[in-house]
Amino acid sequence: MDVLQLDVSGRPQAWITTREAAVIYACDGVAWTLGDACQELRGGLQRATGRQSRITVHPIVAVRGAMPSRAWRQAPALSNAKLFARDRFVCAYCGHRHLPEDLTREHIQPTSRGGQDGWMNCITACRPCNGRKGNRLPEEARMNLLYLPYVPSLHEDMILRGRRILADQMEFLLASVPRSSRLHG
Ligand SMILES: [Zn+2]
Repeated sequence: MDVLQLDVSGRPQAWITTREAAVIYACDGVAWTLGDACQELRGGLQRATGRQSRITVHPIVAVRGAMPSRAWRQAPALSNAKLFARDRFVCAYCGHRHLPEDLTREHIQPTSRGGQDGWMNCITACRPCNGRKGNRLPEEARMNLLYLPYVPSLHEDMILRGRRILADQMEFLLASVPRSSRLHG
C-alpha cells in the first residue's frame, strides 16, 4: 500500500511508501492521521527495554512543518497516464472506451499550429480518431468533442497518480474534488 502524505493543513503532498511513512513517525514528524491503522512495521531494538520498536502506519498522514509554496503554484504535470485517467479512457471523438495502449494524447489545436501541450489543449483520443483528425481543428475535421478538457485540481491529481488507493484515501480525496470532475462520473 501507499500512504497519502498531507501537509499540516490537509493539502495532499505525495504518495509515499510505508517505509517512508515510518521514518516520519520515528522522527516525530506526524501532526495527525486519518483512517484506521493499516500496517505495523517492526523497527530496531530499543536500548532501554531490549524490546523491538513497532510503528503503526495510517493510510493518511499529515506532516508537521511548512511546505515549500512553489509546489502550489504549478498545475499538475501532464502525462498520458493521467490524461487518460482524467478522461476515463474514453475517446473524445467516438465516445468509446479503450485500453490505454490504444489511446493517444490528442492536441485539440495541433501543436504544429500553435497549440499548447497542456491540460487545456489535450484530450484523450483513440488511434483511428486521432489519425482521422490529423492536423486539423475539430471544426475543420467536423469532429465534435464529446467532452471538454480541464486542469485537474490538486486532490484530483493525487487520485490520477495513485496506484492502489485505499477506501479511506479515496474518500478523503474525492471530498475535495469538484463536482464537475469526471472522476465522480
Ligand atoms: Zn475514437
